[in-house]
Amino acid sequence: MKEIVVISGKGGTGKTSIVASFAALAKNAVLADCDVDAADLHLILEPDIKQTHDFSGGKKATIITEKCIGCGKCEQICNFNAPKFDGSANKTAQRTYTIEPFSCEGCGVCIQFCPVQAIEFKDEINGQWFESETRFGPMVHAKLGIAQENSGKLVSLIRKQAKEIATKQNKEIIIVDGSPGIGCPVIASISGADLVLIVTEPTISGKHDLDRVVELTQHFKIPAAVCINKYDINTKITKQIEKRADEINLKIAGKIAYDTSVTKAQIAAKSIIEYSQNSVKEQVTSVWEEMLNILK
Ligand code: SF4
Ligand code: SF4
Repeated sequence: MKEIVVISGKGGTGKTSIVASFAALAKNAVLADCDVDAADLHLILEPDIKQTHDFSGGKKATIITEKCIGCGKCEQICNFNAPKFDGSANKTAQRTYTIEPFSCEGCGVCIQFCPVQAIEFKDEINGQWFESETRFGPMVHAKLGIAQENSGKLVSLIRKQAKEIATKQNKEIIIVDGSPGIGCPVIASISGADLVLIVTEPTISGKHDLDRVVELTQHFKIPAAVCINKYDINTKITKQIEKRADEINLKIAGKIAYDTSVTKAQIAAKSIIEYSQNSVKEQVTSVWEEMLNILK
């Protein structure tokens, strides 16, 4: 079983359109959307959700108002100013404490110090993840709550579940729509992958982002290749990217021209492979074939 992860230095490079096309081209694959902060692969693949699971990124403290005696111990010891003296009154205390959930870092220290065991430590539900079926095979994806953190943990969970499905169903390839950027979620997306495809575009920021992403793949010793999307919008920068790739031994898996049918395909909830009948379809197919060649 091989795992291919498609990433980009930033969002909006056409990464998801390329992943959807790979899904259409692959035979016997499991799909995983690890771009959990801005998941949109489902818009093209229209998954039929078979199972929904809660995702907890960690624990948070909450105060049981009825038990709190308003002693203020939790406020004194919390390093994050999470306990607030503004809870409602109860029989014992005029006012009680509550814990501001966005400030609580879930360290659990206050629980040890509360003299009346009024603090609970519960799993916080940060989002949900799904096991689905699509027209191209099984898919694992997620929805993270607004302003929720721990997306790195959710990314790792999605990849693990995709691997389990691939093993159970005897699938040969896992295609992952990875998180953009260079932070924790992208590291969680690529670590241990068999091949990373970096999608970039010929803009100054695209060129700059490419260097940062390549540094990351090299640091983690993950084989990588690059695909220059919309390469013809600035052939000068495309040449610079090709030169740079050559200097750092980064294989170019292919170039894809700018084509309005890519956006039209997205609007129609189709992959480029299903929608386009021109050279862009051939270019995407050629990138996919090159990826398979590299994996051999
Ligand atoms: S769990 Fe830690 S961060 Fe949260 S309120 Fe208690 S002491 Fe503060
Ligand atoms: S330490 Fe316990 S009893 Fe004291 S204020 Fe905090 S929650 Fe209430």
